[in-house]
Amino acid sequence: MNRKLYSNLIFELSHPGRKGYTLPKNPYAHQSLPESLKRSTDAELPECDELTVVRHYTNHSENNFGVNNGFYPLGSCTMKYNPTINEEVASHPFFVNLHPLQPKETVQGAEEVYENLQLSLAELTGMSRFTLNPCAGAHGELTGLMVISAYHQSRNDNKRTKVIVPDSAHGTNPASAAICGFDVVEVKSNANGQVDVDDLKTLLGDDIAGMMMTNPNTLGIFETQIPVITKLVHECGGLMYYDGANLNPLLGQCRPGDMGFDVMHVNLHKTFSTPHGGGGPGAGPVGVCEKLVDFLPTHDIEKEAKQFLNIDIHPYHGNFGTLLRAYAYILTLGKENIKMVGPLATLNANYIKECLKDVYELPIEGLCKHEFVFNGLINKSTGVTTMDVAKRLLDYGFHAPTIYFPLLFHESMMIEPTENESKDTIDGFIAVMHQIAEEA
Ligand SMILES: *Cc1c(COP(=O)(O)O)cnc(C)c1O
Repeated sequence: MNRKLYSNLIFELSHPGRKGYTLPKNPYAHQSLPESLKRSTDAELPECDELTVVRHYTNHSENNFGVNNGFYPLGSCTMKYNPTINEEVASHPFFVNLHPLQPKETVQGAEEVYENLQLSLAELTGMSRFTLNPCAGAHGELTGLMVISAYHQSRNDNKRTKVIVPDSAHGTNPASAAICGFDVVEVKSNANGQVDVDDLKTLLGDDIAGMMMTNPNTLGIFETQIPVITKLVHECGGLMYYDGANLNPLLGQCRPGDMGFDVMHVNLHKTFSTPHGGGGPGAGPVGVCEKLVDFLPTHDIEKEAKQFLNIDIHPYHGNFGTLLRAYAYILTLGKENIKMVGPLATLNANYIKECLKDVYELPIEGLCKHEFVFNGLINKSTGVTTMDVAKRLLDYGFHAPTIYFPLLFHESMMIEPTENESKDTIDGFIAVMHQIAEEA
């Protein structure tokens, strides 16, 4: 870190006439292009020697901060370590060189991975079947909401235009509902940071298509009223959607399907370790209960006949490399160890919370799950903001937590350590957070 390389200080690396390549002889040179397709001026490409290009990109890659460099407690994002074996599996030439239009009999192994991963997710979540097609959490939400919409339409129940979303929800929830054509209705949180059931009751009716819930919610709190909420929403004819982007604390402990949810998505690139950030490839598989299986999108391997949701969510079978990594992660942990993910992530989060609540304001007391939210420093008279704390953490070599989200508090700092961190690392973070409070 902090290396001021000479090459980093020069912005413009291109020099007219400099070259780092030779093109192969053009075998089509004798064929003339139509004038209309020819350039009138040269393309404006950088002109560099090869070594300059290699250094440019290598230096960029070293300016990155990732889980492989240090602690990355970015709440709601589950920046957990992606084990090296995942990369080994995903980069195997047998997988890398597959083409999605290869004859079916030559891709049986890949199809088996797809089917086994689908079954593993169904078992972990209690849903009946998954499509692995959507390539992000938000993409999964949209897919799941389209399933809900198709279900109501198949019953000629066309007046259900509204989707209920808690005020603590991830921003993608109302956005996905709106993009799917629903009106978004907000349900309030109560003083415990959970969905306010009394407020919910005032919103229910025969115009409700469904309700989206995140659990543990964005404050890291387990929604204890789920049985009451699912019953109320089902009684009015709506379906329950579970945002399982952060399934971490639940893995092997309890299942959304058993809680009465009808549709859910899982972020493989959070809960199942595959790397993410910067808009890279992800996967947001969508699982549904039995009565919705026929509404899953096309391009699903098993089903070909009954298709209500006749849409192509994503070409072919989603981001296959991401699926492979998640599958490798599940198999590496196995049935027994995967049950430890939730308790360890929960222990780590609670440990940090309890060690720091003497100087950082904890707006919601009590046990959290995999993450929690501080509302800045307790001592507001210093004028030191959450932004200042975040930047100071970077000085100390830690990635900042998620800040100014959720919007329920003005100085939110959302901290999620994940299950992989050692006590030494976590103690180091706690010490630095105390140090920053002291400096403030
Ligand atoms: C990350 C996240 C999403 C969105 O997932 P993307 O893959 O970023 O689209 C949705 N809901 C919750 C609770 C999340 O944490």
